[in-house]
Amino acid sequence: MVRYIFRCSDAGYQCSYEVEGNSPDEIIPKVKIHAKYAHNLFEIPDEKMKQFQAAVKEKKQ
Ligand SMILES: [Zn+2]
Repeated sequence: MVRYIFRCSDAGYQCSYEVEGNSPDEIIPKVKIHAKYAHNLFEIPDEKMKQFQAAVKEKKQ
């Protein structure tokens, strides 16, 4: 089964946060919460959102 992983560093932050899930749809809400509390992104601009989505990668086993 494919797992997905998001690393905050892949989205351009010097941050060690990472989160895994079974689908990007499962990860993105967690990324939004992290961005809010860790990076003060209360409103995520479209461009940033695209960066976050692009940073969700398939996890190599
Ligand atoms: Zn972060």
